Amino acid sequence: MNKQYKSYKNLIAGKLCEAIDKEQIEVICPSDGEVFAYIPKSSTRDIDLAVKAARHAYDKGEWGKMSAMERGRILLKFSILIEKHKSELAMLESRDTGKILSQAEADITALARYFEFYAGAADKIYGNTIPIKGNFLTLTLREPHGVVGGIIPWNYPAQIFGRVVGAALAMGNSVVIKPAEDACLSVLRLGELAVSAGLPAGALNIVSGTGEEAGSALTKHSQVDFFSFTGSPITGSLVQQAAALNQRGVTLELGGKSAQIIFADADLEKALPVIINAIIQNSGQTCSAGSRVLIEQSIYAEFSKKLAEKFAKLKAGPHDANLDLGPLISKKQLNIVKNFISQAEKENIELLAKGEIIDNAPEKGNYIAPALYGNVPPNSDLAQKEIFGPILCAFPFRDEEHAIRLANNSEFGLVGAVWTSDGARQMRMAKAIRAGQVYINSYGAGGGIELPFGGFKKSGHGREKGIEGLYEMSTTKTIIINHEN
Ligand code: NDP
Repeated sequence: MNKQYKSYKNLIAGKLCEAIDKEQIEVICPSDGEVFAYIPKSSTRDIDLAVKAARHAYDKGEWGKMSAMERGRILLKFSILIEKHKSELAMLESRDTGKILSQAEADITALARYFEFYAGAADKIYGNTIPIKGNFLTLTLREPHGVVGGIIPWNYPAQIFGRVVGAALAMGNSVVIKPAEDACLSVLRLGELAVSAGLPAGALNIVSGTGEEAGSALTKHSQVDFFSFTGSPITGSLVQQAAALNQRGVTLELGGKSAQIIFADADLEKALPVIINAIIQNSGQTCSAGSRVLIEQSIYAEFSKKLAEKFAKLKAGPHDANLDLGPLISKKQLNIVKNFISQAEKENIELLAKGEIIDNAPEKGNYIAPALYGNVPPNSDLAQKEIFGPILCAFPFRDEEHAIRLANNSEFGLVGAVWTSDGARQMRMAKAIRAGQVYINSYGAGGGIELPFGGFKKSGHGREKGIEGLYEMSTTKTIIINHEN
């Protein structure tokens, strides 16, 4: 281990600590392939300690006894502290994930806003009264699940930490987070800041390690009451199966293959940069990436040419070079994306344009040039699989009905977008698209903290973000009072 690099620590029971076995994982910068930090490689025993700490905080500790107003105040302090450390956190996130600095800054702004939003909501969680026959007063309480286990991925560690932890804590749960080994420095640093914000011991526990060991141990732990998972459909199924053995609930956010549909009557100049940004953001490693663009036949040639001209000018390079794209997270992810590209070549899928990797990009970085493919066969892997790289597939469509059929021809259903100036068509299309969020003449909404987010079909189930995300972290208790004399 090189002493000049920081060794990050787990947060368990309010204390920063190494893994019990003292094992560590090297943290590699995706931009240059160099090690620059270490994180704990935690085992089942560390997870067990963290779950017990969370259990204690919820059942007997200061956290479980705290009023909603006090919880909100602590979360607000945390949000303010995040804002104060914004540039430090953004630089860390950028170096760790490879995402360009401006994106990391936007992520930290969203992170602070999650805690601000949920801080404000903490003491505004109401139940209902329900009229029934007879001498009864019936009411419902929204109660926390208890201990929430959160497994988060490497693509947006800080933002996803915000949406899961913000909602879970505001509702009064205690939390154990297992971030991804490929990128979790911002999350471990947030553990340090949470202590400074005055979060009581055990309310939030963060344990880094591999998914196979630490992640799996968390999902099998019988003392966890509810899970939130974001990641691949395959791992999502494993998490759901493990949770099912203890009859626990799970929200799953599993990515997508989202369609951006552009009609001839749309404002094409306005749409163009938004459509490109929706696929190159975070180098395409975004669950809600707009990875398919459906173009009305009459403008297909003109619009795909415009897209191609822009694509050819895109540049990939190191995270801090202020370019359009950074590197991919890992060699593993780079190989996944390269395999899709080789397969597209073998299938003679039309390459319309390719961006470039800048000449002086470090050799050991995980760089890939963004690419635009045209007339993509709708049932090819390129059109169907979540690539998680900066690859955009273009398809022509004849009419509304054809556009809907193509958009819904996916096992995923996370996000969709429709570009048209026809108001009635906007509504028809929004209703017809099978996805959890549909944008009209836009894509994304600055993090969308306030907006319920989640999938149809293989994109998962349950909702995060907004008030719905808060309710997802609760369960309803119904109380029936007989007030007959
Ligand atoms: P995973 O789904 O395997 O990883 C997501 C999280 O789950 C990580 O924290 C991981 O830990 C953890 N994990 C892995 N195995 C287990 C397990 N058995 N039990 C519990 N937790 C586990 O995604 P990958 O990183 O392998 O990426 C593969 C593909 O998944 C990508 O190419 C992309 O298509 C998709 N993906 C989708 C994301 C989304 O936002 N929807 C995010 C990330 C990936 P660790 O990484 O430490 O092993």
